[in-house]
Amino acid sequence: MDAIDDAIFKRMNGRSVSVKTVLKGIEAAKTAGLGIKVNMVVKKGANEEQILPMAAHFKEEGIPLRFIEFMDVGSTNGWQLSSVVSKREIVELINSQFPIEPADEAYYGEVASRFRYKDGSGEFGVISSVTESFCSTCTRARVSADGKLYTCLFAAKGTDLKPVLRSSGSTEEVKQFIASVWHKRTDRYSDERTEETAKNRPKIEMSYIGG
Ligand code: SF4
Repeated sequence: MDAIDDAIFKRMNGRSVSVKTVLKGIEAAKTAGLGIKVNMVVKKGANEEQILPMAAHFKEEGIPLRFIEFMDVGSTNGWQLSSVVSKREIVELINSQFPIEPADEAYYGEVASRFRYKDGSGEFGVISSVTESFCSTCTRARVSADGKLYTCLFAAKGTDLKPVLRSSGSTEEVKQFIASVWHKRTDRYSDERTEETAKNRPKIEMSYIGG
C-alpha cells in the first residue's frame, strides 16, 4: 500500500484500486486474527509526501509499516537511482515528527531495520536494499509457479525443481537437492547494483516469483 491518499494510491497501483478496498481487507484480516504488516514502496516524485501520513495512520492502528526503497525489480519499472528515497531520509523525516529509537534485530538476516516509536505506539521498518544492501546475510529464495527455484530476487535464471520433485526420490533427496543449489549460490545483486546493472542485467520480474 504505497499511499493513504486515494488519488496517489490509484495512480501508483495503476489499476484504480481505491485505498478503501485495501483498508477493508486489512480490517477483515484483523478481525480474523491474522498478523498484519503493510509494505510501502517509496518513489521520489511519486509518493514521498505520503511517508508521514502513512506512518501516522498505521502508528494509530498499531500495524507495523515497512518502507521499501524503490528497487530495480525486473526490467519494466523504469528504475533510476535518482528516484530512490533513502532509508536515512525516511528515518530522519519520521523522527522529526514522531521521536523513534532503533529496535533490535528480531532474527538473523532480518531484511528490515526496525525502529520503535518512543511513545510506545509500535514500530516501523525500512528495507534499504539500495543504500544499505544486506546480501551477506540474505536468506531469500523463491519458487516460481512453474517450479523453478530462484536464489536471488534479481536472478536471471532459476533451477528447475520439477525433475527431482517428480522422481521417486524421498523428501530428504529433495531437501538435499535444494541445499546443494543454495550452497553454490554467489548472489549479491544489491551489493553490486549500479545504473548500468539496473539497465543491462537481465532479471526476473517480481510478479513472476511472488514478490
Ligand atoms: S539482492 Fe539477492 S542476494 Fe542480495 S539481498 Fe536481495 S535477494 Fe538477497
